[in-house]
This record gives sequence, C-alpha cells and structure tokens, in this order.
Amino acid sequence: MSITGKCAIITGSNSGIGLGVAEELAKLGANVVLNSFSDRPEDHALAEKIANEHKVRAVYVKADMSKGDECRELISKANDAMGSVDILVNNAGIQHVAPIDEFPAEKWDQIIAINLSSAFHTTAAALPLMRKQGWGRVVNIASAHGLTASPYKSAYVSAKHGIVGMTKTVALETAEEPITANAICPGYVLTPLVEAQIPDTMKQYNMDRDTVIREVLLERQPSKKFATVEQLGGTVAFLCSSAAEQITGTTISVDGGWTAL
Ligand code: NAD
Repeated sequence: MSITGKCAIITGSNSGIGLGVAEELAKLGANVVLNSFSDRPEDHALAEKIANEHKVRAVYVKADMSKGDECRELISKANDAMGSVDILVNNAGIQHVAPIDEFPAEKWDQIIAINLSSAFHTTAAALPLMRKQGWGRVVNIASAHGLTASPYKSAYVSAKHGIVGMTKTVALETAEEPITANAICPGYVLTPLVEAQIPDTMKQYNMDRDTVIREVLLERQPSKKFATVEQLGGTVAFLCSSAAEQITGTTISVDGGWTAL
C-alpha cells in the first residue's frame, strides 16, 4: 500500500520532529496537514514550501492542542481541505524540568493536555473518518520517557507513559479493522524542545552546556548520537507501509540503545 495521495495530519509540525515527519511523508507523495498554535505567515510558508518541493498538497491549520475542541476541529478542517483523513501523527509536545515538589501545577496541566489529552481528542475525531474509508494509521510520538523515567520530568514521563497505554487501547479497539495504532519512542533528538531544556538542566546539575549534552542527555543513549528527524520520519513511513500491516499496539524505540540498558 503506497501512501501517495493519502492525507497525513501531523500535530505540532512547524518545527522539530513534526516538520521532519511531514517532509518525509510528503517525499513519499502524501498530502500533509501541518499544525501548531500560532498563525504566522512563516507557518503557512512551510506548507507552501513542502507542496512545491514534493508536488503534493499541503496546508497549515492553526489549532491549539491544549484545547480539546480545537484538536477535534483540526481533524474536521483537515478532512474538509483534503477530502480524507488517513494518517494521524500525534506529535505536539512540550517539556518542563523541575523537581516534583517545585513543579508548577499549571505546567503539569499544560503538559498533560498537549502531550496526552490532545491525542485522545484527535484520535476520537479521526477514527470514524478512517473507518469510513477503510484504512487508517495512528502513530503517536511518545518517547523513551514513555517506557522509562528521569528525575525532574514528572509530567512529561506521566504523559508519555499515558500515551503508550492509549496506543495499546486504540490498537485493541481497531484490531479487526484495517487500522493500526503504534507509538514511536525516540531517545534524544536535537530539536528546539531539547535545546530549551538545556539551560534548566545546566542549573539542576550545575554543569556547562557541553557537559549536559554529553553526561546528562546522551549519557543514557549508548550510541552517543542524537536520533534525527529524518530517521523518525522514516519510522513513521514504515508504520504506514504494507510491511507494517500486522504491527499494532506496540512501541518502536529509536533511541540508540537507551531502553536496552
Ligand atoms: P519541538 O519543540 O521542535 O516541536 C514541538 C511542536 O509542538 C512544535 O511544532 C510546537 O509548535 C508544537 N506545539 C507546542 N505546543 C502546542 C500546542 N499547544 N498546540 C499545537 N502545537 C503545539 O519539539 P520536538 O522535539 O520536535 O518534539 C516533538 C515531539 O517529539 C514531542 O511530543 C516530544 O515530546 C517528542 N520527543 C522529542 C524528543 C527529542 O529529543 N526532541 C525525544 C522524544 C520525544
């Protein structure tokens, strides 16, 4: 099964992994729906660039993934724009690093909303459309932190473990249908999300930037290399290929050996 002409929605895709996934899927001929909470000319320009480069249709839809109704509207707007919803990549995510007794309650709520509840809303809205056309792929970008923990990341680790659980549930609910649901668990990828947590981690551990990268971030990644957005895009593409038809309800780690430790 080729993904040419299929509609892929990627939440949180104006930077980092989401943008990388959108580019890889467009390269294979999918029409893509980019998303974030902003509505700047440069957001729409990203969609135009992908459309021109890969000769596919691409649109940018503003929707705040911390709000359930906007998550659901993203799916209906994508369906209106592209005529179907075939591939849903739940990728939007944020991070905050602090000990649990100092962790701001509003940050906890925001992380659970964006990193976990958004995928509940988008999946609930997308499944009926996938069922109607008889094919669908849900790919959740979880994390190595969906399988293991680190200190100072209580909300993130909880949300990522939660999305792994939700992935399994969706897979069971769609098991007899031509729909699969899987989670990808990346180790560290050098995106703006990781860049942003380096200063706080420097403070927590009293280290300079290079030492944080070597001894905190990549300490748990035995390959000692960051994973790349292209590798993650390729993994999503594999999960959308016919080779992956019987892969559902599981996790694929792209973490340089982190979870083998
Ligand atoms: P990033 O900061 O580059 O991208 C996050 C994306 O989410 C951005 O496009 C941002 O605009 C969007 N976003 C944030 N809040 C949003 C909201 N309220 N509504 C809509 N969009 C919103 O970070 P990234 O590293 O590319 O992260 C993407 C996903 O990959 C996240 O779920 C993250 O947890 C996961 N992940 C990242 C790494 C890593 O090392 N970078 C590792 C494992 C998992």
